[in-house]
Amino acid sequence: MAEVELKHVAKIYNGKIKVVDDVNLKITDKEFVVLVGPSGCGKSTTLRMIAGLEEISEGEIFIDGKLVNDVAPKDRDIAMVFQNYALYPHMTVFENMAFGLKIRKFSKSEIKQRVEEASKILGLDELLNRKPKALSGGQRQRVALGRAIVRKPKVFLFDEPLSNLDAKLRVQMRTEISKLHLKLEATMIYVTHDQVEAMTMGDRIVVMKDGIIQQIDKPIDLYNNPQNKFVASFIGSPAMNFINGKIEREKKIWYSYQIKNQLRINLAKKYESKLLAFMGKQVILGIRPENFLLKNATNNLPKVTVEVEVVEPMGNDTFIYFNLDGIQFTARVISDDELKPKSKIDLYVNPEKLHFFFWRFGKCCFIKNHILIILTLNLKVAEFKIITLK
Ligand code: ADP
Ligand code: MG
Repeated sequence: MAEVELKHVAKIYNGKIKVVDDVNLKITDKEFVVLVGPSGCGKSTTLRMIAGLEEISEGEIFIDGKLVNDVAPKDRDIAMVFQNYALYPHMTVFENMAFGLKIRKFSKSEIKQRVEEASKILGLDELLNRKPKALSGGQRQRVALGRAIVRKPKVFLFDEPLSNLDAKLRVQMRTEISKLHLKLEATMIYVTHDQVEAMTMGDRIVVMKDGIIQQIDKPIDLYNNPQNKFVASFIGSPAMNFINGKIEREKKIWYSYQIKNQLRINLAKKYESKLLAFMGKQVILGIRPENFLLKNATNNLPKVTVEVEVVEPMGNDTFIYFNLDGIQFTARVISDDELKPKSKIDLYVNPEKLHFFFWRFGKCCFIKNHILIILTLNLKVAEFKIITLK
């Protein structure tokens, strides 16, 4: 059992700057949780507070139900893997992996057994006598992982461990760490700024911005139901398109959405109940690139005619870029030979895949499954996703 719980955790530097703000998070035994967000959002600070490398300014951290605020790092039964592998250059791979056990006074035979076991898992058996300078970047990172594994800690903490590797190796190591998680059945907390890493590795993802948790969810739920515009824009590649506009009613049957009449999406009456509260209000419409469609199978989807500016074939898919009213849009469609710069094409949008975001201060209402919920708004997270039409 290794559960980690953060309750109202904050970090304040120099008595005033709050770089981590009221973080509440419960990580269950054997879970792989990823903290993701832009550089400077407080990911490393949060991780370092869990590790005990940083003092906790406010709140409480529990490991396996035990309050660890005042427990020294070495007594927390955790192992941390960093971006810069921090290997000792004068020691061999074996010695690097054995070092932590040696200072903890493990017996020689126990050390040998653990290092051999870990090196087998990581494919390092042939390299145990090499020094770090004779290893590739990927191999060095494996040694850093090995050093953590031999400790058999309750919790593994990773701080951007793959950032120093080239793109191909990063993808490879990503899968290896995921496999390692399954094999070791350990609780793992992984920090990255890379949303692809987060999406592919995490059982759950914690999205952070300015020291504040924006959303905690399974990858697919973050993607389908982002709770605010920041999460919507951060998760997904290419990023979601955003347009300012208004929801209006016309002839009592349609809802339309437009930017200076250039983009107008007529929505069916069945969405009326969901949109009623936002009638006439300024909202931000979000459309993911893959939710523009070249073909309209059922012949009843709202349509936008655009002039293609740039075409980027990616193989199966093609990215197309176009401009509406000065705003750059990206669409990701199935590749088609007809797609050429300057060609005029029709793109269809599925209303059920649209996201509406709405700014409001003070109290915020949003509708989910037709239920009106009133939230007291934290001003630092002042934008809420209002609604999807699904
Ligand atoms: P991340 O890992 O998400 O990139 P960090 O947790 O490293 O972000 O940093 C969060 C914020 O805290 C940043 O704005 C950073 O400049 C600030 N910070 C980190 N360490 C210190 C420190 N020792 N003193 C003052 N500010 C710090
Ligand atoms: Mg960091």
